[in-house]
Amino acid sequence: MPNYIVCVFGSGGVGKSCLTIQFVQDIFMPKYDPTIEDVYKKTIEIDEKRYSLEIVDTAGTEEFSAMKDMYIKDSHGFLLVYSITSLATFNDISGYYDRILSVQDIDTHGRPAIVLVGNKSDLGNERIITREDGQALANKWNCTFLETSAKDRANVTEVFYDLVRQINRK
Ligand code: GDP
Ligand code: MG
Repeated sequence: MPNYIVCVFGSGGVGKSCLTIQFVQDIFMPKYDPTIEDVYKKTIEIDEKRYSLEIVDTAGTEEFSAMKDMYIKDSHGFLLVYSITSLATFNDISGYYDRILSVQDIDTHGRPAIVLVGNKSDLGNERIITREDGQALANKWNCTFLETSAKDRANVTEVFYDLVRQINRK
């Protein structure tokens, strides 16, 4: 059974932990300690094949650290998460993307498997970032784009499944 390591990046408060816990444990954890960085394991079946997934839910205020570079090196795929209610978190995403490209050896590994994720889609009345904004960035990076709600479990399995399928194609 293939073991895939995937890393969840994005600014504090965008819902990285809620997305991960919703995917792994099927619950919405509205108050999760923002300083906790943890690895979750889940066995999944996609297209009649089983996979072991290790999901690194990153945390901490420091955007770039030796620790994060180590996660980048070890990971097969990445979720880059922003909140549709916050411009700052959308702008921060490019920093993570650039870092991934500079740390991973593109010549050896090719383009990294990435899903751009606009979370908190249930908060439509507080929306700042349009779907078109998200899609335009994903087009620029040639990656997948999905909006999710960790609260309502909208598109939560889809982002992880899409990432696994991308890793398979590499
Ligand atoms: P992290 O710092 O990126 O790990 O963010 P958390 O997962 O801890 O979530 C930060 C805050 O956003 C918490 O108060 C969550 O309850 C809230 N949150 C996370 N995902 C969603 C979502 O999809 N919808 C709504 N309405 N709130 C969310
Ligand atoms: Mg967290």
